[in-house]
Amino acid sequence: MKLVKLIANLGYGSRKDVALMFREGRVTDPDGEVLYADDKVPHEHIRIDDEPLDPPAGLTLMMYKPLGATCSRKDIGRVVYDLLPPRYRVRDPALSTVGRLDRDTSGLLLFTDDGSLLHRIISPKARVAKVYEATLASDLRGDEGVLFASGTMMLESETTPLEPAQLQVLEPRRARLTLTEGRYHQVRRMFAAVGNHVEALTRVSVGALTLGELQPGEWRALEERDIARIF
Ligand code: URA
Repeated sequence: MKLVKLIANLGYGSRKDVALMFREGRVTDPDGEVLYADDKVPHEHIRIDDEPLDPPAGLTLMMYKPLGATCSRKDIGRVVYDLLPPRYRVRDPALSTVGRLDRDTSGLLLFTDDGSLLHRIISPKARVAKVYEATLASDLRGDEGVLFASGTMMLESETTPLEPAQLQVLEPRRARLTLTEGRYHQVRRMFAAVGNHVEALTRVSVGALTLGELQPGEWRALEERDIARIF
C-alpha cells in the first residue's frame, strides 16, 4: 500500500493532508531522514513529527470500561471511544467494540479492527467464557445455580433457552456468573428472572484474558499471545 494511503487510513488526515505532511518533511525515518510518498519503508520505521506511527491495521485492544460510558459510536454522552486517542475513531478499517457492555457495567471490553477475529469471539459456537461479578439487591435464594446451569432457562420474549451458565456464590449478595453467549442485558435479565436485581456489574474476564493491572478508563493493545488467551 502507498504510504499516503496507509497513513491516511490510520486517521492522520485525508490523503491530501498526508501528502502535505510529506511535502512539509514531517514524515521521517527514526534517524530524522525525510521520507517521500513513494518510499518503501517498514511500518515501524515511519515517524510523524518524530513520533512513531500508530499501530497498523490488525489492531486489537482491551479496555477497563468505566461506569457511565456507552459502547455506541453516536451517543451524545460519554462513549468508550473518547477514552482512546482521537485518531483511533477514524481509522480504516474501523475499530469497533467486540460486543457491548451496558452503560452501568464496568470491566473488560475488547476492541478490534479485524472482522473475522470479532466474529470468532462473539460467535456462540466459539463458547468463549465471559465472567461477570454481580452485586445483588437481595440475598441469593440458593436455587439459582441449578436453574442457570440447566440449559432450559428462558428469558422473557425469547424463543430459545439460554446456554448453561455457571454461578459461583461469593457472598449472600455477590456472585460470579460465567456465560458463553451474550444476549441483550443477559446478566441483569437472568437475575431479574429469579426475583433479584443487579446493583453493580463488572466483567472480569473474557476467555483466560483478565483485566490485570488495568484501572478503569485505561486500555492496552493486545499482542498475539493475549489474543490466544481468549480462545
Ligand atoms: N449482561 C448485562 O446485563 N449487561 C452487560 O453489560 C453485560 C452482560
